[in-house]
Amino acid sequence: MRISRIDTIPLAIPHEHGGPPPAWGGQAWEALNILLVRIETEDGAVGWGEAFSYNCMPSVQAMIEATVAPVLIGRDATGITSLMRELQQALHLFGRYGITMFAISAIDIALWDLAAKRAGMPLGHLLGGPAAPPSVPGYASLLKYRDRDLVANKVREALGEGYPAIKLHETGESEVAAAREAMGDGVPLCVDTNCPWTLVQARVMAQRLKPHDLHWLEEPIFPPEDFAALARLQRESGVDLAGGENACTAFEFRSMLDAGAVRYVQPSVTKVGGVTEFFKVVALAEARGVTVMPHSPYFGPGWLATLQLLAAMPLTGHPEGGWIERFYTRLEATLYPEFVSPVEGGRFRIPAGPGLGAEPDADVMRDYRVRA
Ligand SMILES: [Mg+2]
Repeated sequence: MRISRIDTIPLAIPHEHGGPPPAWGGQAWEALNILLVRIETEDGAVGWGEAFSYNCMPSVQAMIEATVAPVLIGRDATGITSLMRELQQALHLFGRYGITMFAISAIDIALWDLAAKRAGMPLGHLLGGPAAPPSVPGYASLLKYRDRDLVANKVREALGEGYPAIKLHETGESEVAAAREAMGDGVPLCVDTNCPWTLVQARVMAQRLKPHDLHWLEEPIFPPEDFAALARLQRESGVDLAGGENACTAFEFRSMLDAGAVRYVQPSVTKVGGVTEFFKVVALAEARGVTVMPHSPYFGPGWLATLQLLAAMPLTGHPEGGWIERFYTRLEATLYPEFVSPVEGGRFRIPAGPGLGAEPDADVMRDYRVRA
């Protein structure tokens, strides 16, 4: 079935996390950006995708509209793996990371949504998961507070809502200590630092943080692709590391995993190259005994795709299986209210409908659309 139309729909949804505005990528995040991609085939079928777009939405949108969509109009939507290979090859001169791959990721997710709808089953089942998928465990991914009292309060709040594990986005030892004190022993505590340190600095910090019993230390070193430094830090410190949200395609993950850089690998479906590349990373990780912990701090079709991928992963439900990352913030509105809030015990339902399993809310798309 041929692709007849590709549209982008940029959304900005205000959110409240109870602290100072978070700032990643050098700018404050006043609202959460969601760049939706809608692909229509000539029989009128529609698939939805999402590109990573926090603080880069106009760039990703332009990439899709001006550079990616013209390559795909008129092409058969059903041969996804070969079409994605061809698309990556055609666009490789624009870079194999960042904006180009975010754009390709959105297209890939939308094509898989279409494929699973055509098959009449949820994507997770099409990829080898059960017909009636279980719920998956989630963890509360707190935004950045840089304040030990705020961190302790938010940790208590998230645990009170039933989350079984917590992740902080903090680099200070006192905030990490406050979180551990608030949660007590035995509850998994992860610390995401977003690439602040050299190897030498990271060694010092890993030793300082170690007494707080980290489940993982995430992206401690800049640049994130210095896999040799990460491997050395993990080996010498004895602290389990996590990383991968900034890696794109299975090729880069192969290098990361071959280096022994991380114990937990974190592909992001809206960045890595979509469902196609994510699923290859799952196989690479399984072959090396590394656990996949998806990066998923977003709320559009990428969130649903992550749930479906978790349903299809070999160790879902096993203690070594993956957890979904839920940004711990309150959104003014959501595209899929039923599936972005946890049910009992901090678990998330996997939509059982065909494709990604749910359609984005038309009123939310209308009300939060960013108008040029
Ligand atoms: Mg992270």
